[in-house]
This record gives sequence, structure tokens and C-alpha cells, in this order.
Amino acid sequence: MKIAVVGSGYVGLVAGACLAENGNDVVCIDKDPAKVRMLQRGKIPIYEPGLEEMVRRNKAEKRLTFTTALARGVQQSQIVFIAVGTPTGEDGSADLQHVLSVARDLAKAMNGYKVIVNKSTVPVGTAAKVRDVVRRETTHPFSVVSNPEFLKQGAAIDDFMKPDRVVVGAEDPRAAELMKELYAPFTRTGAPIMMMDCASAELCKYAANAMLATRISFMNEVANVCEAVGANVDQVRHAVAADRRIGPSFLFPGVGYGGSCFPKDVKAMMHFAEEKSYDFQILKAVESVNESQKRRLISKMEKHFGSLKGKRIAVWGLAFKPRTDDMREAPAVPLIQGLLAAGVIVHAYDPEAMQVAQKIFGAKVHFAETSYAALTGADALAIVTEWNEFREPDYARMRKLMRNPIIFDGRNIYNPESMRSQGFQYFSMGRP
Ligand code: NAD
Repeated sequence: MKIAVVGSGYVGLVAGACLAENGNDVVCIDKDPAKVRMLQRGKIPIYEPGLEEMVRRNKAEKRLTFTTALARGVQQSQIVFIAVGTPTGEDGSADLQHVLSVARDLAKAMNGYKVIVNKSTVPVGTAAKVRDVVRRETTHPFSVVSNPEFLKQGAAIDDFMKPDRVVVGAEDPRAAELMKELYAPFTRTGAPIMMMDCASAELCKYAANAMLATRISFMNEVANVCEAVGANVDQVRHAVAADRRIGPSFLFPGVGYGGSCFPKDVKAMMHFAEEKSYDFQILKAVESVNESQKRRLISKMEKHFGSLKGKRIAVWGLAFKPRTDDMREAPAVPLIQGLLAAGVIVHAYDPEAMQVAQKIFGAKVHFAETSYAALTGADALAIVTEWNEFREPDYARMRKLMRNPIIFDGRNIYNPESMRSQGFQYFSMGRP
């Protein structure tokens, strides 16, 4: 099939590459000329495992092209995906300006029947808004479909190629059939394609992300109670997870959720519920627990050291999670800001996110070339992102480099007993 994907970010680029991988002709469109030039040279602007190879392969086969020329891309395609950002607006709502401006521009360019697919995460009612905008600009026939994306950064290709499910909100049979055909190669091994109305499809994505955020905040509170009463959250977690109604995923306590999706989707869901006079009370708590959890590691440090002024602290992990360079809403940002405000000298290291972090902190933070270099002379180490390379370090080398062998582990990646026997003072989340 001939496909255009508007927006070449984490979602648009992965969707474009994966659709090309299955034999479709895909043109990826972005308004950022520097990004498009880079993609035309076979370089990708983000870190996502396996993506660069896939982009290069499909580009070489001429199934995947990149352009800033929206009109041409739309005219040569039958299905047009909208995969642009929907950031949080000032009032907490999802800001639809990029989605609606793409809808307007693509409508002006239409030269025949098109299926317009909302892949961006958008509140209920957006398909209808896109329909209205397009109808105002064109007399050509079209259908609007809602197809939320569930991929996880860091495992995006796998998630797109082998999804748990594909959700399609389509209210007209012609578009529904085209979408089923497009996704047939991705659902061949048994993942269901779930056909529904647009409003339900739009809501699915928010409900899924809000549920995951709720589990995280819930387990963070359980961990905090464990600390208060002297229980061990690892043991509690295993026992809770063994209940098949609950299961083991997303039960790890930490320093709060971040990224471009959970924080904004939780806010947007509260907002559109409120617009219909519904007070989504649980989500208010989820958000406020997350905010206080992000400050918890600093509180532990203050409790241990008293004043942090003049202390030198190493920070391992800056990205909001492993296997990405994305620092949008990353817990490392408020942590480092808090440390700097307390007069701490911060030496940070992340395997992929240092360039992004440099743009945020500039010269206020020292960026180390290796995880060990960050430890030199450190009064303590704070672990914020659970990259695999931090899991089995050379403990003797760490002890030798640090002024004080003290670790504040925000991700529970080590065993408290073995850390003690290695000679570290070790503070983690919800464990004695
Ligand atoms: P992103 O910021 O990485 O990418 C958006 C891209 O759209 C940018 O490259 C930008 O230049 C481009 N763009 C903006 N306006 C444009 C226009 N008018 N014409 C052409 N290009 C334009 O965003 P993302 O992380 O890929 O997210 C996109 C959407 O997908 C959001 O709604 C997000 O909530 C949703 N989503 C994201 C993820 C994720 O893990 N990142 C997962 C599922 C869903």
C-alpha cells in the first residue's frame, strides 16, 4: 500500500519504518528540515535500538523516503497517518494544534479518497474534530480512523512488529477494510485487531497509560509504607504478583514515572473527564504521589548527610528509562535541579542521554565519559535509571574511586545484603 506518515518522531519514524519493512511504500513527512536531511542520509535523530538499521535497509530498497513536502507525500498515498506531538497545554489538556494543522494542510493537498489515521494520542472527540477540519478544506471523499499506538520506547520496533493488540476505531466499512489489510502482517501470529468506534479507540490509549501510571504510583506508596513499618517491598511484590488477577508487570517501586506519555496522558485524561463534569479522583492521587516520589531520593540523602552543600554526588542514569535517550519529564531532571539548588556538585553519566542532558543543564553539571569516571571523589552515588550496564559493576573499583562508598539506589538494582558485604552503605526503595 502507499502510505504517508506525518511526524517523524519516536512514533512516526518507527511506524513508517515498520510499515515499509512489511513491503509498503512509505513516505515520512516532517516539518523539521534538519531532521529530514539527516534521515535522507540514513541517520536517525533519536536513539532507538534496531531503528537505524531498519531505516537504512528500507531506504536502500526505496520503500522508505523522507520529505518536508507534505502535499506531494499526501498525493502519492492512500493512507495518511498523523503522528505528531500532542503535548500538555497550559490547562492540562492535550494540545491539538499540531494534529489539526496537519489535518488542514493535508486536506488542502488531497487529490482523491484518503484514509486519515490519527496515530497520535488524542482525547475523545478528536476524530470528529479532524473530520470537521478536513471537510471544510476539501470536496474529495475521505475517512478518519483512530489508531492509537502502544509502543514502548526502547522496545519500539518489537512492539510495533509484534503488538499485543492493534486498536482501530473506524466508523466506515471501506476504511475499516483497508486498515485490516494494512495490519494483517502484524496480527498474523495471533495478536487481535480490535475494531471499534472512534471514541472508544481514543479512550483505550488513555485508559491503558493511566492504569500503568496507577500501578507505578501504587507500588511506590507500598514501598514507602514498607520503609515506615520495616517490611521488604521485594518480598511483598513477589507475593502480590503471584496472584494471577494482578500479575508481575509494573510492580517495581522507583523514583516516579516520566517520559513523554504517562505524565501528559494522565493529565489529559483528568482534563477531558473534568470537561464532562467527571472528577477522576484516582488520577489526581496518582499524579501527586508521582511528584512527591521524584523528591524521595533527595530526602533520603538529606536525612543521611544533613546539609548537602558542597557534597559531590555522582548520578547514574539520566534518560527517563533505559534503552532510550529521551529525557522528557525524566525523574533525573528534578533530582539534579534539587541537588544543584542544595549546593551539590553533580557528576552525571548516562549511556545515551548525555547530549540531551547537556542541552538541559549546560555547564551546571559535569558530564563524565564513563560511569566510573563520574564516581571519582564522590560522596555518594545516586542511581536514577536502571541501565543494564549498571547492574554488575566492579564494586572494588567503585569503592576505590568514591570518597564515601554510599549508594542511593532509586531503582533497586542491587541486593541490599550483598552491597553491605561489599562494604557499601546502601539505601534503596522500600527495603531495609
Ligand atoms: P515526537 O515529538 O518525537 O515527534 C513528533 C514529530 O512531529 C516531530 O519530529 C515534529 O517535528 C513533527 N511535527 C510536528 N508538527 C508537524 C507538522 N505540522 N508537520 C510535519 N511534522 C510535524 O513525538 P512522539 O513521541 O513520536 O509522539 C507522537 C504522538 O504519539 C504523541 O501524541 C504521543 O503521545 C504518541 N505516542 C508516543 C509514544 C512514545 O513512546 N513516544 C508512544 C505511543 C504514543
